[in-house]
Amino acid sequence: MSTILNQIKQTHPHLYQAFSLLADGEQHLRRIKEVDSYWDKLKQPVKQVVFPGSDLPNDAVITGRYDLIYAGGTLSMLHAVVMAGKYGRKVMIFDRQTPAKTTRDWNISRPELLNLSATGLFTEEEIDSVIVRRYKTGWVEFYKPDGSQKRLFMENVLDCAVNTDKLLGLAKDKVLAVPGSTILAETSFSCCYLFDDHIVVKVEDTNGKAWYYKAKVLVDVMGILSPLAMQLNAGAPQTHVCPTVGTMASGFENADFDTGEILASISPADNSSGKGRQFIWEGFPADGSKYITYLFFYDEADSPNDKSLLSLFDTYFKTLPDYKKLGKDFVVHRPVYGIIPAYCHNGYSRTREIADERIILFGDAASLASPLTFCGFGSMVRNLPHLTADLDRAIDTDDLSKKNLERISAFEPNVASMANLMKFMCYNSATDAPNFVNDLMNEVMIVLDELPERYRQTMFRDEMKIEDLIVVMMRLAWRYPKVLEATWAKLGIQGSYEFLKNLAGWVVSPGR
Ligand SMILES: Cc1cc2nc3c(=O)[nH]c(=O)nc-3n(C[C@H](O)[C@H](O)[C@H](O)COP(=O)(O)OP(=O)(O)OC[C@H]3O[C@@H](n4cnc5c(N)ncnc54)[C@H](O)[C@@H]3O)c2cc1C
Repeated sequence: MSTILNQIKQTHPHLYQAFSLLADGEQHLRRIKEVDSYWDKLKQPVKQVVFPGSDLPNDAVITGRYDLIYAGGTLSMLHAVVMAGKYGRKVMIFDRQTPAKTTRDWNISRPELLNLSATGLFTEEEIDSVIVRRYKTGWVEFYKPDGSQKRLFMENVLDCAVNTDKLLGLAKDKVLAVPGSTILAETSFSCCYLFDDHIVVKVEDTNGKAWYYKAKVLVDVMGILSPLAMQLNAGAPQTHVCPTVGTMASGFENADFDTGEILASISPADNSSGKGRQFIWEGFPADGSKYITYLFFYDEADSPNDKSLLSLFDTYFKTLPDYKKLGKDFVVHRPVYGIIPAYCHNGYSRTREIADERIILFGDAASLASPLTFCGFGSMVRNLPHLTADLDRAIDTDDLSKKNLERISAFEPNVASMANLMKFMCYNSATDAPNFVNDLMNEVMIVLDELPERYRQTMFRDEMKIEDLIVVMMRLAWRYPKVLEATWAKLGIQGSYEFLKNLAGWVVSPGR
């Protein structure tokens, strides 16, 4: 009997039971605990990981020299393939796990995904080969006790299931095909040393041996656990989070393989922890008979709720039959999980730190994506052309200052403004009735249903225009005046002011 699984037998019995049936259950449990270490890290003193070059140990031997070193091997693959393949940059990618393998799966629409073939690095056939299923439609629905909820249908939104590892594997092969590129597995970031004309990155292998590599720029793509993001943002790298767990499984009796269930709330808020959580499900058909289900909730990063993935997974396995009917052939193929990060900016533009001298943060480490429906993968695909071209230009002109690098970002004023809406989805038992989030969101669905389809499509694809958002907000306030009271409870004076600043920044932004 394995030990790490036994440790959770009493505390998380449903998770224990489900993971005991998985060949790699222990391995996933270890990884989940690693992600959950995020919550402790938020409480600990911030660890320094950026040092001046003068601190580099005298006996440090430089093993390799690169234009770019990427710490983290997920979304980095998509960026690095362009930097190496299109711009001829010498790149190195390392990951403490296996590069190009994730613990999640992605949904996106095909036109959005075709941004990757537009880079010239992937053919359209290759892009189509990673789409494992395309749905006819998708819907969003929030629970009403009397069954009167509005099911809002939408097309061309998150309607393609992507085989994540296949896409990243393709990118990895293309990176490695460029002479001089290096990809290292089981290699952890330790710290870095900043010099005027380069940066030295210290990593550790699984035996604890230190290695030093030199680069023009370090790209931090270490996700939510990034120690660089933690240091640059003084220990508060996210304002909000979205803990998410689920499985790719088969054997559901009532899964519709032509439809994506983009957001599906099936109950009022759960009051068993802290200030309460409004759970939301998602259901996405994948290849063959496989079907992906997720359970998640929105929360403040510092709320008193139990936000651990371990507990959420236990709840997931306990309550999954309330969402989908498990047939006798039900089998879990693999778990999927992570903490989706979010940051609400207190300003007219980006206020989060995403760069330092010769250091730039992308993906979840930068936390600039919207957690509402679309997240980091969609953001990277959308912003890839300028995230690569601008960084190449910065290297060319040797302007790798913090000031120049922080201009190269996936910050989008519309996404920043829309992130405020997430605050309404964070349930609080002190101020909210148990069905508060559902009631409010149901009204939003009714308003969107009355408007042309582009409103819902752009809202759920992070492409909304400010004039369209204002129409939605005005109609909502007219239909459901309680939203004004809720704004007071959820945002208060400070939050409303921040929202207004975000909106003002959006109004004056060039690409609004
Ligand atoms: C269940 C789930 C479903 C999702 N579905 C979608 C979706 O449909 N569409 C969408 O757009 N987004 C989706 N997302 C969000 C998306 O997965 C993330 O935004 C994306 O994975 C972020 O990529 P990243 O490379 O920035 O970080 P990560 O994916 O977290 O990768 C970070 C990498 O860094 C490595 N690392 C961490 N610390 C170190 C260290 N010290 N040294 C070396 N390596 C390190 C990790 O091992 C990891 O491989 C989903 C997220 C989850 C959790």
